[in-house]
Order: sequence, then structure tokens, then C-alpha cells
Amino acid sequence: MPEFSRRDVFKAATAAGAGAVILPGITAAALPDAAADAATTASVTPEATNAPPAKLTGRIVRPQDPDYASASLGWDELFVHYPLVIVFAQRTQDVVNALTWARQNNVALRVRSGRHSLEGWSNVDNGIVIDISELKSVKINTATRIATVGAGLSQLEAVTTLAKKDLAVTTGGEGTVGLSGATLGGGFGLLTRHLGMACDSLTSVEIVVPSGTAGAKVINVGLNSYSDLLWALRGAGNGNFGIVTSLTYKTSPLKFVTYVTATWAGLKYTNSIFEAYQRYMPFTDSSLGTQLEIHKNEILFFAVLADGSPAEAKKLLAPILSIDKPDVMVKVGNWGDIYAGFQIPTQDDPANWKFFSQFISKPFPKRAIDIVRAYMQDAPTDDSNYFLQAFGGAVRNSAPRGGAAFPHRDALFYAEPGAGWGVRGDEESGEPLTPIAQAWIAEFSQALRPYVNGAYVNVPNIGMQEWATAYWGSNVDRLRKIKAKYDPYNVFQYEQSIPPAGPCPSPTTWWPPANDHA
Ligand SMILES: Cc1cc2nc3c(=O)[nH]c(=O)nc-3n(C[C@H](O)[C@H](O)[C@H](O)COP(=O)(O)OP(=O)(O)OC[C@H]3O[C@@H](n4cnc5c(N)ncnc54)[C@H](O)[C@@H]3O)c2cc1C
Repeated sequence: MPEFSRRDVFKAATAAGAGAVILPGITAAALPDAAADAATTASVTPEATNAPPAKLTGRIVRPQDPDYASASLGWDELFVHYPLVIVFAQRTQDVVNALTWARQNNVALRVRSGRHSLEGWSNVDNGIVIDISELKSVKINTATRIATVGAGLSQLEAVTTLAKKDLAVTTGGEGTVGLSGATLGGGFGLLTRHLGMACDSLTSVEIVVPSGTAGAKVINVGLNSYSDLLWALRGAGNGNFGIVTSLTYKTSPLKFVTYVTATWAGLKYTNSIFEAYQRYMPFTDSSLGTQLEIHKNEILFFAVLADGSPAEAKKLLAPILSIDKPDVMVKVGNWGDIYAGFQIPTQDDPANWKFFSQFISKPFPKRAIDIVRAYMQDAPTDDSNYFLQAFGGAVRNSAPRGGAAFPHRDALFYAEPGAGWGVRGDEESGEPLTPIAQAWIAEFSQALRPYVNGAYVNVPNIGMQEWATAYWGSNVDRLRKIKAKYDPYNVFQYEQSIPPAGPCPSPTTWWPPANDHA
């Protein structure tokens, strides 16, 4: 098999002058025309549908377009794909057309929003990427506190827009992550203990789902219509049932926050900080959200107290802040300003990332904390870290009306070892570390297995055998039935998508293999 790297492919594509992708055995001249034809012409087989051939609409990027490489690249540069066509939807009908086109032409499809899929699963070689990131509408009713937003908002856009009205929903901490990608898998962050998971505030969605053998339709999902699908979309909605085009949240009032950070140099106090963190932070006042990051050479701590003063925050945080003498910073302000203020520009982040998600439901014994410390001392880079987010509070106590597929309500923490390496745009800078970082993550997460349970679908664990149970526990059977109801032909499928319950209805379903269907 000829050796060629991702970098070679990008170089070759640029050299071709038209953003063409050159793969072994395919000439530069041949591909663009073929791709162009396939990307615009719907060659419908008569038995597939009686509907007229669908045409792609919206902003369409194909391999021969100059912005193809940037339109295709995801946040995690470890994963690179070469889709046949990327459709940036400008309205819901573009999504309907794209899904119909993909079905009529039997082309693999992926849904994409903020591009942060941590295994690169929102993109696909030779298929169609239906990208909804340009659906940016916002409608907020301040009297009812109901907000309906286009599914293309980033978390930063959502947080800052709502904060201007003194409103909030839970999001993760990274502003460039897609709001829909985070919410549909659960979504936690520094407001989680106060407001629950992001998906808990989701009250309705507009979604494009498969219709018949080769079509697509728009449905509005809420507590009174398709409520089973609402339940599923609250924690298992990423790329499984349809393409969400707008999200409606019941938001909560939030006038201001106190934001506290603390930094300890070195790992000398790892055990006492970890002990204090797990003893107090999952059980403290539910207005207080916290995050701990253990790095190779320092420990970082972050806290947000919703509508609380610095004095109250310091009192609640005393068990941690009293350990040695950390560098402490305290800010008070509007949540949108604070959130925007702690963002790190993407170009300053490492290019490649690998994580392994775990939940902790019993406090770590000393030997587990020792494992964390030993692995962190040996971390491949300074950006690599062991990340903890305290649960409890509203996650445990306030599952939403109608319920949610997200199951990890009793966890004390979400936790993940994460490795980051390499310089963005310079693949060679990361290559020597790739096998080392991957092995470090695999061994680290294995060493912690006796002390953890479950996994987080938004940070998927690719090598895990029982991944569905790890993500959704006893909800898997119900999810498979809902999948069979809304996507019986398994149109929405990827490496860890939910398989429909029952026998495969169509021989065109190629993944997972037919004998995987119970
Ligand atoms: C740096 C970083 C920090 C993170 N921090 C947190 C955190 O603090 N808290 C947290 O909960 N998670 C966190 N995550 C995980 C994050 O929630 C997931 O990676 C999320 O799925 C990314 O969504 P996206 O839209 O950006 O990604 P994409 O790659 O666009 O999509 C991710 C998945 O969602 C599907 N999807 C996206 N949009 C739609 C849609 N409209 N309809 C149907 N399916 C859709 C895609 O098909 C894909 O399967 C973090 C991830 C990263 C990379």
C-alpha cells in the first residue's frame, strides 16, 4: 500500500490549483468532474422513489472549490476526511433537500454543526456533510423566558446572546463548540449544578427526519408531539435520528456570576486538592459549579457561583483554596462577559486531541488518585490534562418533565484524561507524539477502570466494546425502538450510531451488519 500522509494530500490538492483531492489511483483531471456530476445530479433509481430528483440547495462546497480544505477540516486535526460535497444549509428546506438527495443517491451522510466531534464523526469520506452552522436565528421571549435559536449557534454565541437579557442555559466551557452538538449529547459546564444538563432545558426542536423510502420531512418535536423523540434527543440526539434545525429552551434568569480561578504550581498537593474536591464539590451549594484540571506541571481550578458574591464564593471554596497558597483570581460580572473572557483562541490550542470519557460515582481511594498523579507527571505535553467536572445539584435532582435519555444522574463527577499535541496547520509537528499520546490515554484510562463507570457520548470512546450501555445505561433498548420508529432504514449511521431495534427493513442498510440487529 503506498504511503501518503494527510499533509501530502493537502499539498497535492493545493498544487492542483482547484482544491482537488488526489488519492492514489485517481487522476486530478478525473475527480473534479466526477465529483461535480455526482454532487449535483440526482440519478434516481425508479424503485427508490416516485418523487422528482432532489437538487442540492444552500451554500455548496465541492472538492474543486478553493475553500474545500477549510470547509472540511474539523476542530480536532487528528481526523481528516474528504467528503464528496458539503452543504451549508441557509434554511430548513436546504436540509430537507440534502437529506432527500443523499437518500435518493444512496450516499453516506453526516450532520455537522460546530465541528468538534472528538472522533471526527461529523465528516465522512466520499459522502455528503449536511452542515447547519449557518442557521443562526435567535428569538427570545423575555416574559416566558423561552428562547428559540437556529441550531447553528456556537456556545459562545448562545451564552452571550442570552446573557444580554440576563438569561442562561447550561453549556460547556469551550465557546466554539456547537450548541446543538453539545445539547443533543447532554451538555454540562460551570452552570450544570445550578441549571442541570443543557438537554434538560430543551423543550422542543425542529428536526428533519427521513420520510418513506427515500424522502425527508420536517417535524416539530415537543412534550405534546413526538415526545418520545424529545426524550431521545435529550442525550442521544447526535446524528442518530435526524438533523435538528432549531432548538427551543426554557432559559433561567442569571443576573451576574462570581468567577474564581486558582492555580497551584507543580503536583505536590495533588492528593489533598483531589480529596477536598471530591469531598465537597459534588455536595456543595448547587449554585456553585466547579472544574479541576490536573496538568503535568500545575493544577488549575475554576468555579462559577451563580448570582452569588465573592465573599459567598470564597466561603464555599475554603476547603480547596486553603490548601497551600494558590494564585487566586476573582471576577464578578455578567455571565456572557465572563464566559467570553476565558475563551482561548482556537489557533493557540494544540492541533490534535484524544480523550477518554468516564464517570465517577464513588470517591476515588488514595491509590486511584496516585494513578492520576503518576500518569500526569508522565503526560506527553503540558496541554494534556486530567479533567474533572463536579456533578450533583440540579443534575441529580431535576431531571426535566418528560425525562431525558442522558442517564448519569448519580455521578459525582464527569472525568477524562485528555492529550493535546502538535501545532495547528503543521501536521509534522504532531506526528512523532501521536503514538505516544494515544498509548498514554489508552493506558491511563485502563488503569482507572476499576474506579469509574459509564462514558459520555459527546466524548466518545472509540475502543469501548459496550459503548451504547456505557453512554445510555438501561435506556439503550428504548432508544433502539425510537430509532426504528423515526429512522427505520438506518439512514443516520456512523461508527457508534444507535442501531434500530428489530430486523433491518432494507437490504440497502449497510451498517451495522444485518446480523447486528436483534
Ligand atoms: C475543546 C472541547 C471542549 C469540550 N468541552 C465540553 C464541555 O465542557 N461540556 C460538554 O458537555 N461537552 C464538551 N465537549 C464535547 C462536545 O460537547 C462535543 O464534542 C459536541 O458533540 C460537539 O458538538 P459540535 O456541534 O461542535 O460538533 P460536530 O462535530 O459538528 O457534531 C458532533 C456530533 O453531533 C452531531 N450533530 C451536530 N449538530 C447536529 C444537529 N443539528 N442535529 C443532529 N446531530 C447533530 C454530529 O453529527 C456529530 O455526531 C467539548 C469538546 C471539545 C472539543
